[in-house]
Formats: sequence, structure tokens, C-alpha cells
Amino acid sequence: MSTKIDLRGKRAVVTGAGKGIGRTIAQKLHACGARVVAVSRTADDLQTLQTEIDCETIAADLVDAHGASELIEKVGDIDLLVNNAGISVPQSFLETTMDAFDRTMAVNVRAVLAVSQVVVRQMINRKVSGAIVNVSSQASMVALTDHTAYCASKGALDQLTRVMALELGPHQIRVNAVNPTVTLTPMAEMAWREPAKRNSMLSRIPLGRFAKPEEVADVVAYLLSDHAAMIHGATLPVDGGFLAN
Ligand code: NAP
Repeated sequence: MSTKIDLRGKRAVVTGAGKGIGRTIAQKLHACGARVVAVSRTADDLQTLQTEIDCETIAADLVDAHGASELIEKVGDIDLLVNNAGISVPQSFLETTMDAFDRTMAVNVRAVLAVSQVVVRQMINRKVSGAIVNVSSQASMVALTDHTAYCASKGALDQLTRVMALELGPHQIRVNAVNPTVTLTPMAEMAWREPAKRNSMLSRIPLGRFAKPEEVADVVAYLLSDHAAMIHGATLPVDGGFLAN
């Protein structure tokens, strides 16, 4: 039995593949042999990704669920889906605006529902054993100051993941979530640069460091692969032990 993750012959959609964790996931899945369809908002990011890996690209704003669904429908047969696109608008509870809340829920939750519905329908029609990973966060399980909408959206995403697992399991479509801690994308490096904030979060991570995008991408590739054939409906921390605290 091969211990290497082998996704040859699979076609994988990755949302939010233009930057950060999603871009690293797209690169990882390509390295594992999958044919990648990279979805993101900024067309320039997708163009530069195409200079790094051979992939199809779709420039779409996932806030527009209807428009995004139509574009994904045109992609055709998909075996693997990574719902990675997500946004965070840091606001305290009393300062959270309706606009920020709606946008956060639209990208982090509603788009996952819309894109997954399109992909799952064709998986069921083709009778393939598909796999889906939703990129959630440790913020789904604990409260983080100034992350009101974000925490709410990731809590909802974990529950969406469980319902998908419940209903799609009989179709042999596996659905899981990964729940990373702070992961050092360029944006997170900026957000956590301030020493007091950084050290306070680091002190709650038993391994004493933040995650690297590659460490999240490795777990996503594993969950999509046959090595995880019996893992279904899980919300898997990639958090250096933060949630064990
Ligand atoms: P990032 O660096 O900001 O990248 C997010 C990607 O998603 C970008 O390519 C972005 O494109 C795309 N995206 C955002 N909104 C979109 C929309 N409406 N339509 C289409 N694409 C959109 O974020 P990240 O840190 O890699 O986060 C990726 C996922 O991991 C998110 O779900 C996040 O919640 C989760 N996560 C991150 C961390 C962390 O510390 N980094 C920790 C836990 C969980 P544009 O730039 O063009 O908008």
C-alpha cells in the first residue's frame, strides 16, 4: 500500500486559491497529481498561479452565490472540493455592522452551500465517491475578541459540514472541516505583528508557534485522499493544541 497521497485522475476545485492558504492548497493538490480548478476573486492572482502550476481558473466573487454557482456549473465533472475562501472583518460585538456581518456570512457560509450544491449534484449524478473539505477555524469553537461575525460564521460552517456529512454519506461523498489556528499567510503576519497581541495568542498554543500554510494544506490533501476513507463529518483542529487548552 502506497503511503504517498495520490490524487491522480481527480479533478479538484479550490476556492480562494488566489492567495494564502488556498493558493498553497492548490499547489499541494497539483503536486499530488490532481487537476486543479482554482477559483478566486482577483484575476491577477489566478494568472500568477498559472505561471506556477498547470490549472484552470475561474475569477468569481463568491458573495454573488447565484453567479458563482452558474460559473461552477460550467466547470463540469469534479471529484474533490475545497471550500477555502473566507474573510474576516475584525469588529467587537457592539461595533459589528450589518454589512460586515452579511458579507462575512455570504462568503464564509452561504457560498460554501451554493458551490457545494452544484458540485455535489453532479457527483451524485455520476455516482462518484467525492470528497469535500471546508476550511473553518479554531474560531468556530472558542470566542475570540473582535471576531464576532467571523466566529459566528465559522461556527455555522462546522454545523454545515456536519449536516453535509449526514446527508451525503449515503452517497459515499465524504465531508470534513479543518480548523486551523493563526496561519502565517502574508495577511495574518500583518494582523498579528503587534507583539502584545501576538504573544498573548502564542501563549495559548502549546506548541508555541503559529501554523504554516503548508501544514494546513497537508491535512487538507490527506482528508481528500483515500488515506482518510473513514474520516467523515470531522472538524479537525490544525492548531498546535490551542483547542486542548
Ligand atoms: P487570505 O490570505 O485573505 O486569502 C483568501 C483568498 O480567498 C484570497 O485569494 C481571496 O481573494 C479569496 N476570497 C475572499 N473572498 C472572496 C470572494 N468573495 N470571492 C472569491 N474569492 C474570495 O486568507 P487566508 O488566511 O489564506 O484564509 C483562507 C481560509 O482559511 C479562510 O476561510 C480563513 O477563514 C481560514 N483561516 C485562516 C487562518 C489564518 O490565520 N490565516 C486561520 C484559520 C482559518 P481576494 O484577495 O481577491 O479577495
